[in-house]
Amino acid sequence: MNCDKCGADAVMHAAYSGLHLCEEHLRRAVEKRVRQRVREDGLIPDDATPEDPVTWVIGLSGGKDSVVLTKILHDTFEQDPRIELVALSIHEGIEGYRDASLDASEELTAELDIRHETVSYAEEFGIEMDDVVEDDPENMAACAYCGVFRRDLLETYAEALEADLMLTGHNLDDEAETALMNVFEGDIEQMARHFDASLGPMDERSEQDHHVPRAKPLRDVPEKEVALYAHLADLPAHITECPHAEEAFRGEVQELLLGLEDDHPGTRHSIMAGYERLAALAAEAYGDDADLGECDRCGATTARDICRKCALVEAVEAV
Ligand code: SF4
Repeated sequence: MNCDKCGADAVMHAAYSGLHLCEEHLRRAVEKRVRQRVREDGLIPDDATPEDPVTWVIGLSGGKDSVVLTKILHDTFEQDPRIELVALSIHEGIEGYRDASLDASEELTAELDIRHETVSYAEEFGIEMDDVVEDDPENMAACAYCGVFRRDLLETYAEALEADLMLTGHNLDDEAETALMNVFEGDIEQMARHFDASLGPMDERSEQDHHVPRAKPLRDVPEKEVALYAHLADLPAHITECPHAEEAFRGEVQELLLGLEDDHPGTRHSIMAGYERLAALAAEAYGDDADLGECDRCGATTARDICRKCALVEAVEAV
């Protein structure tokens, strides 16, 4: 098959758009969607100037998504003195997995000349995910612990690095899965939080002054295209799956979504288009975070006396 844009050999067929694209036009299409998302979500504030630039901290795991996001943001804003990029990696303490992906992150940031900071669960909480999985004091999936610890570190370090924005590499498949999970669980408050935390355009989010705002500029790009981009650009992405990955419900939703997308191309896009409108309405109704206070232990923002991260660390230490 030939590229519908230029007639060169196509490297992919996007069933949702009907287009066959060559390497060059796939690259351009992915980059264009990231730039569009940055613009549509209003991620660059009007008052950002070369004298007073904004700091964007990118959560860099070393996997294909965050590696592609880092590369595209670097290439797009390299000559823009209003934006300073910092990459932040987290070591969870997973043997044989995270060391390799941190090597990929080091290689990429050295190549792009981006400041790179690494923090670990061991240094920050005195725990390693391998031990947490073995002890499992709360009888939960590994990702349920890990997600809480990671979110806490990202938020803490985004603040410490004086970030104006925290960017993560979630792609279209990730976001459509999260949207469907929230719908299937009937969790309207979670939809509102999703909108206010990372999904809505900056000027439409409810006031959230307790953490650095987040954004996901890759969220219009399907996972397969991100993987192909990383491969074709020969980026140092680490592709091995975490040995503790076992989010059962997300896995089921992922299977369902893949099947629906095969039978009805464009399903992921239409889910997200409708979900964003629903989540915006939910945020209008539930976006007020006036009930939040500070964790008695660490001072993090929480609706409880002790935040979830401190409660989990305590449970792990008690084993
Ligand atoms: Fe942590 Fe789960 Fe990701 Fe592994 S797959 S790094 S346990 S969140």
